Amino acid sequence: MSENISMQKILIIDDTPDNIRILNEILRNDYRIFFATRGEQGLEIAKRELPDIILLDILMPEMDGYEVCSILKSDEATVWIPVIFVTAMVSVEEEAKGLEAGAIDYITKPFSPPIVKNRIRNHLKLKSYSDALKMLSEVLAQKNRELDILAKHDGLTGLANRRHFDEVMDAEVRRAHRSGECLSIILCDIDYFKRYNDHYGHLAGDDCLRHISEIIKRIFQRSSDLTARYGGEEFVIILPDTSPEGALRLAEKFRLETISENLPHACSDIADCVTISIGVASAMVTNEKMSPKWFTSKADSALYKSKENGRNRVTAASME
Ligand code: GH3
Ligand code: MG
Ligand code: MG
Repeated sequence: MSENISMQKILIIDDTPDNIRILNEILRNDYRIFFATRGEQGLEIAKRELPDIILLDILMPEMDGYEVCSILKSDEATVWIPVIFVTAMVSVEEEAKGLEAGAIDYITKPFSPPIVKNRIRNHLKLKSYSDALKMLSEVLAQKNRELDILAKHDGLTGLANRRHFDEVMDAEVRRAHRSGECLSIILCDIDYFKRYNDHYGHLAGDDCLRHISEIIKRIFQRSSDLTARYGGEEFVIILPDTSPEGALRLAEKFRLETISENLPHACSDIADCVTISIGVASAMVTNEKMSPKWFTSKADSALYKSKENGRNRVTAASME
């Protein structure tokens, strides 16, 4: 048996040692050869070594080749391994049975070395193409998952980005229209954040934004909630199936937890730490006029009132 690790692997399963010997002679210089003289043992080696191809005898005691092939094809780990039946003579029925069990080809005895070599080389070439394709599609699927995350999330905070917020808000407004449940959104803006940046620098400003998003992630944990960065230093939370009282309670909790984080803000007119102003809009969606834009403009007006009335407060939007 050859020891070259980079060589492709061939597993021969045959109860006649002479057959194994002849095939080994033909193939040993080009491939790593494994062999088994019983079906069970062959299956074990197949699972362990994951050979690139299996040469399988049909007539064997205990477990015949058809059964071995069917088991290989029903196992996720071995389903991709091409199986070639090795047989003395093959009737049309037998050939059909073998192909049905999942074999891709037949090699008949007595062996003609050049035919055996070429057949196997061709099948292995196909196998390496299909392996490469399989790997490529796995890489592609992984990249797609990563891209999906990138496309939906804000790089700085890890919250949903504005685009994803728009998509989800659209879906939630429609859902609320169908279900008759109350939909709430919370819009939040950091107070005197321009001064914070001017005083502490932009990097510290970024840290502060991350800090606030961590508070958001901690508070809004329902799987149906969506927490997003709405703009520069503004955040928005969608709360499906949440009453005005419930949304206000959560908004107030968010405001208080931000204060208790006690992030120093030397240039705020209203406190010596970072504070936030919040607008909350809650409504049952009863007509087409109540669009996502309608909700956000209501929350925005309420937020504006919070600013006007001295910042560091929560205001419920008037929903007329
Ligand atoms: P107000 O209390 O009225 O909200 O005042 P403000 O200073 O917070 O509001 P304004 O809209 O004047 O300023 C927002 C600031 O947020 C300006 C901008 O420099 C800062 N900002 C926006 N995006 C980012 C960001 O990604 N990183 C940092 N560090 N700052 C940002
Ligand atoms: Mg702002
Ligand atoms: Mg601000």
